[in-house]
Amino acid sequence: MRTTSRSAAAILALALLAARLAAQAGGPAFPAAAPAAGLLCPERLRQGDPLLAWVLAEASFAGAEARLAAAGEGRIIAAAAAFAGPELASPPRVGAAAAFRAYGFLMAIPFDLPPGDYLVLVEGAAALSARLSVEARTFPSEDIALDAANTRLRSEPSPRKEAEARKLAELLARADPAAVFLDGSAFMLPLVPRRRSAGFGDRRRYLYQGGGAETSLHAGLDLAVATGAEVSACAPGRVVMAADRAVTGLTVVVEHLPGLYSLYMHLSTLFVAVGEGVERGTRLGLSGSTGLSTGPHLHWELRARGQAVDPEYWLSRPLLDKDRAAAIIARLIEGR
Ligand SMILES: [Zn+2]
Repeated sequence: MRTTSRSAAAILALALLAARLAAQAGGPAFPAAAPAAGLLCPERLRQGDPLLAWVLAEASFAGAEARLAAAGEGRIIAAAAAFAGPELASPPRVGAAAAFRAYGFLMAIPFDLPPGDYLVLVEGAAALSARLSVEARTFPSEDIALDAANTRLRSEPSPRKEAEARKLAELLARADPAAVFLDGSAFMLPLVPRRRSAGFGDRRRYLYQGGGAETSLHAGLDLAVATGAEVSACAPGRVVMAADRAVTGLTVVVEHLPGLYSLYMHLSTLFVAVGEGVERGTRLGLSGSTGLSTGPHLHWELRARGQAVDPEYWLSRPLLDKDRAAAIIARLIEGR
């Protein structure tokens, strides 16, 4: 993620402008001649959730930047560059035709971000802002006893492990602006599990054979299932990794949006190769217990701009809420 070089004064001015815009009933108003633009942004998120904000605009927002800032002090938490999303038709009840496009801004709410009020600020063809409330989330703790083989796999230094970790981190930090694979709808669960054996964000203490322990945060969701169950892509995208890794076993990574990746680990068989396009539900492989694993399960993970985010967030809501987008566009057109 790139850092912003703006001065504190400029940020304060933007925050004041944001407060003024937010105070106007019915959203920001624009002069008749100016191209209309509105912001579609979640009002409430939890620690560890992804943040995907959309600008709906007649003018281009290519090159625009969004920032997540603490309300009041203006401290910048995260920043994101725009990617061009789909064109949106103007709603039929509005007489005049208008060409709107959705521009996406992807960020992540850090696990440890203090709960409270934040602002999403976008600076492009127009300055837009929205309030965002971040809620606390409780992450359970668990102890996992490792056998001798898993203790070695986890605790012993290995050039292969380090090279694989570096390669994956580099891949997940990439945000290719052209990688927009979106039909706007919700995710699907990659398989129907017997049970969830570990949650997203669990604080884990690995207990090594022969003593010693190490604590880490569980970056994904573990879905317990027998070996050989079909594992499906959660959303449309493109395969950017299909490899045998030391720690995560047979692993598939699918790119969905610039900087948004889903990961599928510990598989027993792979059905896809790098570069292949997938639809929601495309079979990626079969479940298994390869790599560092204490039994057959799918580790399903979601990364936004390199950060692990709750993979279940988009199971119950669309990536682009077309009804809300249409309502915002209608208000913008009627308001001029
Ligand atoms: Zn896991």
